[in-house]
Amino acid sequence: YPVEVIRNFSIIAHIDHGKSTLADRLLELTGTIAKKVSGKNEQVLDKLKVERDRGITVKAQTATMKHEHNGKRHLLNLIDTPGHVDFAWEVSRSLAACQGALLLVDASQGVQAQSISVFHIARDRGLTIIPVLNKIDLPAAQPELIAAQMQSTFGINPDDILPISAKTGKGVDAVLRAVVERIPSPPSTDIKSPLKAFLFDSLYDRYRGVISLISIQQGILRKGDKIQSCHTRKRYEVTEIGIMHPEEVPTNSLHPGQVGYIACNMKESSEAHIGDTLHRVGDAVEPMPGFKSSKAMVFAGVFPVNSNDFPKLEESIKRLTLTDRSVTVQGESSSALGQGSRLGFLGTLHMDVFRQRLEDEYDANIIITAPTVPYKVIYKDNKEAYISNPTEFPDASDPSSKVKEIQEPIVRASIIVPAEYFGEMMDLCFSHRAEELDHRYLDTGSDSSSSRIILKCVLPLSEIVMDFFDQLKSRSSGFASFDYEDAGYQRSDLSKMSFLLNGKPVDALALIVHKSAQENVGRAWVKKLHKVIPRQLFEVPIQAAIGKKVIARETLSAMRADVTAGLYGGHYERKMKHLENQKEGKKRMKRIGTVDLPQEAFFDILRK
Ligand code: GDP
Ligand code: MG
Repeated sequence: YPVEVIRNFSIIAHIDHGKSTLADRLLELTGTIAKKVSGKNEQVLDKLKVERDRGITVKAQTATMKHEHNGKRHLLNLIDTPGHVDFAWEVSRSLAACQGALLLVDASQGVQAQSISVFHIARDRGLTIIPVLNKIDLPAAQPELIAAQMQSTFGINPDDILPISAKTGKGVDAVLRAVVERIPSPPSTDIKSPLKAFLFDSLYDRYRGVISLISIQQGILRKGDKIQSCHTRKRYEVTEIGIMHPEEVPTNSLHPGQVGYIACNMKESSEAHIGDTLHRVGDAVEPMPGFKSSKAMVFAGVFPVNSNDFPKLEESIKRLTLTDRSVTVQGESSSALGQGSRLGFLGTLHMDVFRQRLEDEYDANIIITAPTVPYKVIYKDNKEAYISNPTEFPDASDPSSKVKEIQEPIVRASIIVPAEYFGEMMDLCFSHRAEELDHRYLDTGSDSSSSRIILKCVLPLSEIVMDFFDQLKSRSSGFASFDYEDAGYQRSDLSKMSFLLNGKPVDALALIVHKSAQENVGRAWVKKLHKVIPRQLFEVPIQAAIGKKVIARETLSAMRADVTAGLYGGHYERKMKHLENQKEGKKRMKRIGTVDLPQEAFFDILRK
């Protein structure tokens, strides 16, 4: 296959606009997979259970298709990209191996927040964009209106838009034709040029170890070749090479412009550095412009429900991070929850997906503490530290503290919503400390009832990690879509809030709270604790405190005396039995201060 017949492309879209369905149709149309006879719509490229459950694509997957066009055989490499705000980095990374992208927009929903963000990533990379209007079979489809929206939002000529139904297959042949005719082939290079392979993704296989997905920029890579990483300078031998068709199919070599996989006895997936350039041992090549590595922005402690399970949990986390390297891991221990790990995620969806994978694939029974973000602490001597764990957060109100200033990460968010929900969205934003930058109508000239508004604002990341997304969806009847990007750090009035039982702080419950929310949060949590903590033999004060100042309190009254009097005054046997029961119970209890706190109380609180 000479490079002229190769096309490398991605499908980019807002979540649920039909990427995976279209990918399946393309694979079927090219005979890469058999046409399914059952009515079940199970996307081939969504391999993980969590992806099927949630209908999202988490890990970018690649497939090669063979396709004859005008009597000429072509090789089409499809790179399926994830479609959620948390995974923008993976989208960007997969697009680096492409020359074109299909921009898919749902004809009933129209342009959504991530349609815009992925469009910009693709355009910034200089890719040829083929606009596709999907789901035209739906009764609610408004093809003309949405086409006009795509024109006004992206500057796309409506004549270039391909109307299709990925579900029924209508118009999909035109998409294949457009891929061949509109997307340029990869830049051609002299066959004799030294090998340069761009590593854009990696998988982990239980038996073969690390599988790297690569695109050949120049030269030829063959089985048995000795290669070296520009980044680590480590050397490997290619033990297996091939294309994804759609599963791994071994070949003897990969040529310029091709996309495929190699196994080369890498032991750890940290060796497969995304954005790395591989070359033949002995050649000197200029590495391809690399990538910034992903940055964890949401952190949470993960603990086993049963503390004896920690070694198993640790092992499961280790295995899972082999396939998802954007998760960072640190040890953490808590007096209330025992030994655990502190994990860093790209966003909250990423965190949810990881938790579900732990539960599905490793049968883990875990507790996750409230998510936090990396705060920046600037000390009086101008040294800086990033702190995401509330237990390590300094008390700036303490006069002996060396803290000069505390800053928090902020994001630039866009929300797209039908005009009737605009007021709700403004309320939601302002109750989350947002500052509005601007808003405007997305579709000009259409009737106002169906018009959509795009609202842009700046808000702290910590405000969106808890329940922002759920509220956004419920307060817009599911119509609002949301996307955000990093906007740096901003000075903020934040403090650590601790919770005390009988005067003793419970580390696992500590929170970092903005001044404006202190009272509400303190009161709400103290109430919640009051509800779940069982009564003790004595009165227990439950307090929320900032530094030494108590800002909310509830008192858990003592158990009625006669309950215990009866027990302890009874026969020896009954007393022994009671002690026995108590011992059993103790195993699941954590002693905080002198208060016995059942694990269930923690779950109730943390599993909100
Ligand atoms: P992705 O999140 O972009 O990968 O979207 P999916 O391919 O998973 O599709 C999301 C939902 O839309 C699924 O329920 C599909 O069956 C449905 N869907 C996809 N394409 C079409 C279409 O052309 N017409 C209709 N009616 N439904 C579609
Ligand atoms: Mg999908």
